Amino acid sequence: MSQHVALGPVSQRILCPHCHADISTRVEGESNTKTHLFALLLCLLGCWPCAPCPYCMDSCLVKKHYCPSCNNYIGQHEN
Ligand SMILES: [Zn+2]
Repeated sequence: MSQHVALGPVSQRILCPHCHADISTRVEGESNTKTHLFALLLCLLGCWPCAPCPYCMDSCLVKKHYCPSCNNYIGQHEN
């Protein structure tokens, strides 16, 4: 089975590669390097009050998919 599961930004119904159950993935938004760089850039531009904004913006977060059955990490979707 392919290790690279094509995942979108929302929950998807797939066969879990770990426990092989037919599940709908649990999606969690997490910050990544791009999010930190964007926040840093806002600070450098003097927009430091806006610095936490990237952490609240969905489009700046990586969507990580987890199996609700076995709680294993399945894959992620980056914008
Ligand atoms: Zn599973």
